[in-house]
Formats: sequence, structure tokens, C-alpha cells
Amino acid sequence: MTEHTTAEKATGINYRHFFLQLLEAAPWPVLVIDRALTIRYYNRHVCSLFGVTGSLQKVKLDQLITSAAMIQLVRESIASQRPQSAEFNEGPSGPCWKVSVTPLEHHKPPAGQERLREYHYFAVAIEDLTELRRLERVRRDFVANISHELRTPLASVRLLAETLEDTIETDPEQAQVFVERIEKEVQYLTSLVSELLELSRIESGQLPMVIEPVEAQQLVREGMARLLPQAQRHRVRLRTEIRDGQVLVAADSKQIGRVLVNLIHNAIKFTPSGGEVVVGTFAEPDGCSQRFFVRDTGVGIRPEDLPRIFERFYKVDRSRSKFDYLGAGGGGSGLGLAIARHIVEAHGGRIFAESTVGQGSTFFFTLPVARAERSTR
Ligand code: ADP
Repeated sequence: MTEHTTAEKATGINYRHFFLQLLEAAPWPVLVIDRALTIRYYNRHVCSLFGVTGSLQKVKLDQLITSAAMIQLVRESIASQRPQSAEFNEGPSGPCWKVSVTPLEHHKPPAGQERLREYHYFAVAIEDLTELRRLERVRRDFVANISHELRTPLASVRLLAETLEDTIETDPEQAQVFVERIEKEVQYLTSLVSELLELSRIESGQLPMVIEPVEAQQLVREGMARLLPQAQRHRVRLRTEIRDGQVLVAADSKQIGRVLVNLIHNAIKFTPSGGEVVVGTFAEPDGCSQRFFVRDTGVGIRPEDLPRIFERFYKVDRSRSKFDYLGAGGGGSGLGLAIARHIVEAHGGRIFAESTVGQGSTFFFTLPVARAERSTR
């Protein structure tokens, strides 16, 4: 103590105050407990983690932490007088906590002695690794998905090339069919790679955006015009439903055009012949944003798939889109909606979908109204 007092006097530092500030500066919950598990110090992150509003002074750690495994780890550190740490998972995709227990010297060991024989206090740090582990999982899935997406068409190109070799002399007509199928697979691979590059550019904020006031109805009409031939080819009725179409939205027309084309393309792809796709827009009641929608009378999306369709590579059912409605090669990469989400969010908007299996789906997105330039018409 005298040592502290001297040091405090010499440096002008109040060590207790200093220590409490350090505790608060820690980016995650930290507690100091004694050998009987009584809480002596804690920071505000402890209170928010456990939803505590009152004081935790003198509360026992095992009254606060209900996990027997975590308390066991703390007891082990106390018994062994050594640091201990472990991760605790609640299910493969549930919360993940890393708990570290460190014995604390409450005074300097006597000269010649390396460390104290008995520790009275222990620091318990609780780190939330849930997000980190989730990101690791996303990265792993991403690599696995890319490999899968590349491997399948590559395997068929190899197979087709081998067969081509055998037939080129004997059956030129059949050989031509193989050449066309190879071209289709290569086309798919090329578009997959360019979509991947596009997505990574958007995600890293490298896609330059030219945000200008543009009439909502112009975006809708252009999107519809671009996909009319495709709708006709698949005998799907395509029409617009425009309300408040003269409202000016703050948008990069080219990028939003891509979003609409993607949504309409999907709607046609998942709607059987004789069905209908409606593209429309209307003003939100708040007057600050404009809503766009693409509604179809197609196959619909199951409730369990709905929250996931905006994820990279998420496809509900590979065979369904590929063969039933557009024929082989019509299946997409599963990246379209992920790209659409990034573009809309980069505009400050939201994208979401509603669906009933067997009846159809509606995709919505919002865009901010261009401020000070709202049309008065
Ligand atoms: P893809 O390139 O496979 O179409 P998307 O990211 O555009 O990828 O869509 C992801 C998945 O969401 C699709 O594979 C499909 O399962 C589902 N989906 C998208 N739009 C629709 C729709 N209008 N109706 C039914 N399912 C849809």
C-alpha cells in the first residue's frame, strides 16, 4: 500500500480511479470476483449483457451466470490458481461466448518469489463471439457454394468435350448439339464469374453510383419494356400498375433498372404459362419514400425459405426453376437477389418479399424520394 501511495504521489495518478476507468474501457463484459465467487468490480457491459439495472456488488457470480459449465471453468481457475478459458456454444448457429478467467495479483510478490502462492481475486472476461463465428460460417459456405457452382458446369463441359471427340467424325449433327451445350455451360460460367465480381465490387463499395432524381414510373416502364419479349415467349402476361408515378426518386437508374429486371426476370421464370406478372409503384404514406413491387401468380416461396432468398447462392429448389419453366440453362446463379439487396440498401432503401405457395410472390423495394425536387404535378 505504501508503495502505491508513494507511486501515486510521484505520478499524481489515483490508481483505483485509473483501474475503474480501464475496466469501463474494456470492449466486453469484465468482472472481478473473489475466491468465494463474490462480485467485487464489474463494468457496464456486464449490466447490459445480463439486463441488470441494480448494483451487482456482493452478488455471487453463480447467481448471475446460470451456465453450470461456465461456473465450473471459473472454479477450476480458482482451484488451480491458473488462467482458464473456453468457448461455450448454444447450438451450431446459436450464441457463442468465450469466457476467460485470469488470477490477479493484488500485490507484488515478495522479492525472489515469481508469483503469489494464493490469489484472492480473479478477472472474468466474457467475449461474445457469435458474430465472428457466423461470419466464419458464411465464408466457409461461400467457398463451398462457389466450388459447387463452378464444378457442376465444368464437369459437364469436360464430359461433353469427351463425347464430342468421339462423335465429331462419325456424327457431325450430334457433335453440333454438343458444341451448343458446351457454349451454354460456358455462357453460364461467364455470367456467374461476372456476377461474382459485381457482387464483390458492390460489397466493397467500389461500384460508382450516379444518384439522380428520376420519375418512379420511368423506372417501372423501362423494366417492363425490357422483359416484355421474354414474357411473351413464356406466355406470361406482363403489365404495369402505376400510382404516384410522377414522384421523383433518388436513384441510379442503371442500377435500379438491374434490380427491376432481375425481379421481373425471376417472376417470369417462376410463373407457369398463362400466369401474370405485375410491375408497379406507389408512394409510401410517410411521403419520404416510394415503393416498387413485382407481383406474380407463380409457384410461390415457402415461409422457411423466404427469409433466406436474399442470401448469396440461396436457391430454393434447383430443379424447379431449371427444368419446369425455362428449360435447361434457365436456372440462375442464386446471386441475383443478393445483388439486388445490396443495390437497394446502397440507395438507403429496403427490399423484402411476401409469398403464398401455389398462389404467387410479391417482391417489394423502397427508394427515398428525391428531396427538394419533388414533382408538383
Ligand atoms: P437465381 O439466379 O437462382 O434466380 P436469385 O437470387 O434471383 O437467384 O433468387 C434466389 C432464389 O429465390 C431463386 O432460386 C428462387 O428459388 C427464389 N425466387 C426468387 N424469385 C422468385 C419468385 N418470383 N417466385 C418464386 N421463387 C423465387
